[in-house]
Amino acid sequence: MKDDTKVVAAGRAPHSNHGIVNPPVYHASTVLFPTLAALRAGNGKDPRQVVYGRNGTPTTHALQDAFCALEGGDMAVACASGKAAIVTVLMAYLQAGDHILITDSAYQPTRTFTLGVLERFGVEASFYDPRIGADITELIRPNTRVVFVESPGSITFEMQDIPAIAEAAHDRGAMVVADNIWAGGYFCKPHDLGADVVLQAGTKYVVGHSDAMCGLVSARAPHDEALWKTFVTMGNCIGPDDAYLAQRGIRTIAVRLQRHHETGLQLARWLETRPEVQRVLHPGLESDPGHALWKRDFTGASGLFGVLLHPVSDTQLAAMLDDLELFGMGWSWGGYESLLVPVDPSDVRTATPWQEDGQLLRIHAGLEDPADLIDELDAALARLNAAG
Ligand SMILES: *Cc1c(COP(=O)(O)O)cnc(C)c1O
Repeated sequence: MKDDTKVVAAGRAPHSNHGIVNPPVYHASTVLFPTLAALRAGNGKDPRQVVYGRNGTPTTHALQDAFCALEGGDMAVACASGKAAIVTVLMAYLQAGDHILITDSAYQPTRTFTLGVLERFGVEASFYDPRIGADITELIRPNTRVVFVESPGSITFEMQDIPAIAEAAHDRGAMVVADNIWAGGYFCKPHDLGADVVLQAGTKYVVGHSDAMCGLVSARAPHDEALWKTFVTMGNCIGPDDAYLAQRGIRTIAVRLQRHHETGLQLARWLETRPEVQRVLHPGLESDPGHALWKRDFTGASGLFGVLLHPVSDTQLAAMLDDLELFGMGWSWGGYESLLVPVDPSDVRTATPWQEDGQLLRIHAGLEDPADLIDELDAALARLNAAG
């Protein structure tokens, strides 16, 4: 089955529920067992058993099955947020004495959890240049258990050579975890590129409407068992209404992402022509240093990209951003609406310091008509110039 069919069909069984198209929202803590034998059999070891609300219900199974089909994993779990998915994964595969290699471009909370919490429990972390490719082999230590990739990073958009990194990691006995949120699970298949575990913030494109939190993890065997055990142990479950919204969102992800792709590229190409802009950070552009990898490993681009302006004053930046109507200023992304925020990677990076001179902006291209978005950017840049 093709992806566009999978996201519609996987995890749905209307005829087991009166023919109703969507699964019901099961609100559950207690699950009753009719006999002593059934009670004893309900030990929670089997991920498909419905034994207690926290372990999963048919609502969460519908979401997990659809996501698992999309990513091409052997099993999936749904967590309370993308961050919770990251925490679950790191707790599942690391223990005291282990070392983890994390791309310097990773989502900042991945870094803070590793340095702030995992290091207290005896896990060592180091950060690497996202563009390292096969040379990662030189950084892999005998105790390196996990190599964490995120391609492209969600602030600086460097593409990573996942197949080369995975080959080096596997040769040296390490596993590969991929944060696949930029591609929404749709435009890139990290499992097929060598990732053992793939996660994403369902909060973004899966939910798609900026109204629910969700984290999703897909694992390939033999890494599925540890994922399930840790997931259940940590009690890190998604609420029933958010699980419902996420499984509903995934049904339309293919068409939404296609539109985010088209509008994002259109805005990026327009911004590239502007004199206020030094560089547009979008791997779908021919001018981007990651373009060849993107063409090789991805079938499209999401709506998220960076714009590096020439240096501007704070007054100019405020003049540009304060009167935006269509572009909202706020965190997260992946909803139907456009966003624009100033970002500064320089506080975060350690392996590859951010030394660009100029203001970086992050744009999320929503589902509005691209002509209206371009008009608004045009007016915003005129305000920036007028304030100069
Ligand atoms: C947003 C995001 C997350 C975390 O998702 P939440 O649902 O907000 O916790 C993880 N990784 C990346 C790359 C993200 O952009």
